[in-house]
Amino acid sequence: MSANHRSSHEDTQTPTGAALLHDPWLNKGTAFTQAEREAFGLQGLLPPHVCTIDEQVQRVLENYRKKTTDLERYIHLVALQDRNETLFYRVLMTHLEEMMPIVYTPTVGTACQNFGQIFRRSRGMYVSYNDRGRIHEMLRNWPQKDVRVIVMTDGERILGLGDQGAGGMGIPIGKLSLYTACAGICPSQTLPVMLDVGTENEAYLKDPMYLGLSQRRVRGKDYEDFVSEFITAAKDRWPDVLVQFEDFGNTTAFHLLEKWRDRVCTFNDDIQGTAAVALAGLFSALRITGKPLRQQRIVFLGAGEAGVGIGDLIASAMVDEGETLEGARSKLWYVDSKGLVVKSRTDLADHKLRYAHDYEQIPNLLGAIRALQPTAIIGVSTSAKAFNREIIETMSRINERPIVFALSNPTSKSECSAEEAYSWSKGKAIFASGSPFPSYTYEGRTFVPGQGNNSYIFPGLGLGVIATRAKRVTDRMFSAAARELAARTTQEDLDMGRIYPSLKLIQEVSAYIGVAVAEVVFKDGLAGVPRPADMLEHIKSNMWKPEYRDYLKKP
Ligand code: NAD
Repeated sequence: MSANHRSSHEDTQTPTGAALLHDPWLNKGTAFTQAEREAFGLQGLLPPHVCTIDEQVQRVLENYRKKTTDLERYIHLVALQDRNETLFYRVLMTHLEEMMPIVYTPTVGTACQNFGQIFRRSRGMYVSYNDRGRIHEMLRNWPQKDVRVIVMTDGERILGLGDQGAGGMGIPIGKLSLYTACAGICPSQTLPVMLDVGTENEAYLKDPMYLGLSQRRVRGKDYEDFVSEFITAAKDRWPDVLVQFEDFGNTTAFHLLEKWRDRVCTFNDDIQGTAAVALAGLFSALRITGKPLRQQRIVFLGAGEAGVGIGDLIASAMVDEGETLEGARSKLWYVDSKGLVVKSRTDLADHKLRYAHDYEQIPNLLGAIRALQPTAIIGVSTSAKAFNREIIETMSRINERPIVFALSNPTSKSECSAEEAYSWSKGKAIFASGSPFPSYTYEGRTFVPGQGNNSYIFPGLGLGVIATRAKRVTDRMFSAAARELAARTTQEDLDMGRIYPSLKLIQEVSAYIGVAVAEVVFKDGLAGVPRPADMLEHIKSNMWKPEYRDYLKKP
C-alpha cells in the first residue's frame, strides 16, 4: 500500500484484542496468522484454523447465496463491510457482476425504502439542518484525515423513487463502494454524507421508525446556506476532496452544480456522469449503424437531470464534430409529463428552455416520434413501460436499427425491458438500460443488453481527479471519459448487441478512463501534482487492492 493509501489508523498504534477484531478497516478475522494472534492478544478470541482470504471469500459466498431475497443479500454484504472491509471488497471486486445489482440499483433502492427497518450500524456522516453553525467542528469527528471523495445527497430524488429523506444515505454508501470496487479508490479516503434537511415523504413523516429529521424540507436561502456551510467546511478540512452531488431533486441539482462547479472540485453524477455513460453508449451504437453523431435526431422521454445532462453533453460532442451549438440543440427534443417541450409552452423550468424549439405542441411520445422521425429514443422519465409495443414498432419502421435506451431506475421504472425492445423490434433495436436485464434470445440470436451504468464513468473519472489532485471537474473530462469508454467496447461486444465493455473488465477500463481524464486535467492546467512520466502507471499506483496487511512487517 503506498503512502497515499494509508488511513489515519496507520498513523496511530494498532489496537489489540477485541478492539482489533472490531475495527472493520484493520480486521482480518480468521485470517490473522498465529504470530499475529500472539503479538496482538488475539489468542482464544478466534477459532484455531487460520484461513486464507480466498477461503473466507468462499464462506461468504456460500452464506450469501443461501439468502432468499435481494434485500437479505444486501444486508449480508453491508454486515460484512461493517466487520471486515478488506474481505467485503475482495468479495465484491471478484464477483462484481453478481453483486453490483445488490450494492447498487436496483436493490439499493429497496434498501433506501426500508432504511428505518434494516438500519444496524451507522456508516458515513449525517449532517442535519439542526447542526448548522457547527458543521466545521462536527467534521472533526470523522476519524480519517485524508478524505479524497465525498458523495453527498439530500435524499430528495433517490433513483426514480422520489423523496426518501435520510434513507437516501444508501445511495452515497453504494456509490462509494463502487468507487472502490470499480476503480480501486481506497475506502478510507471515501466519505458518504447525508445532508438531512427533512422530507416531503408523507409515509416517513408519520413513521415512528423513520430515522431522519421528521419535518418538511428546508428550502430557499436557508437550504442554500446550509449546503454552502457543509461544502466550505469539507474543503477546509480536506482541501483536495472531490465532492459529488448525488440524487438531489432537479430544482436544486442544476442550480447547485452551476453555483459550485467553478469554485470547488465537484460534479453531479446524475447530470454529468449519466451524460457521459449515455454518450459513450451512443458512440458505440453509431459504430453499429455506421452514421455520424451529427446526423442523429434524438427524442428524450423525461427532461430532468439525466435527460438535459445527456442532451448537453451530446450537443457539445456534436460541436466537437463541427456542428454549431444551435444546430446541435435543434437535433435534440424532449417530451416531459406535459408533452413535447416547445417554445409556446409557459410551464417550462429553466433547464428545459434551451431545448424548447419553435414547433407545434404534441401531447405525447408516440405523436412526437411520428412527427420528428428520430434515430434514437432515450427514456429518463421514471415512467415504467412508457416505451410500449407501438412506440418500439414505430421506431423500427423509421429506422433500420433504432437506438432505444430505457435508462430509468430501478428495474420497476424502466421504460421497457430488454425482452420487449428486442422482440417488438424483431431483433433490430440497439438497446441499453439503466438497471440490468438478462440476455434474451430472439429467433436463435442471443442479445446481451448493455447496462448504461454510471459506474462505467464516475469511478474512473474520480480516479483521474484524485491521482492528479485536480482543482476542478469539467465537461471536457466527461467527454474524454465517454470517448475512452466507447473505445474500450470491442467488436465482439457490439456483435452480441452490448454497447459497453463487460463489467468483468471494469477495473482496467476505469484505469484507462483515469488516464484519459488525467490527460485533460494536465492539458487544461488543473493539476495539483507534477505530470508523471508514465500516466498509466501513475494512475494504477493510485489503485487500492483488497489485500490484508502483514501486521508483523515493519512499514
Ligand atoms: P428528474 O426527476 O430530474 O427528471 C425526471 C423527468 O421525467 C422530469 O422532467 C419529469 O417531468 C419527467 N417525467 C415524469 N413522468 C413522466 C412521464 N410520464 N412522461 C414523460 N416525462 C415524465 O430525474 P432524473 O435525474 O432525470 O432521472 C430520471 C430517471 O433516470 C430515474 O429513474 C433515474 O434513476 C434514471 N437515471 C438513470 C441513469 C443511468 O441509467 N445511468 C442515470 C441517472 C438517472
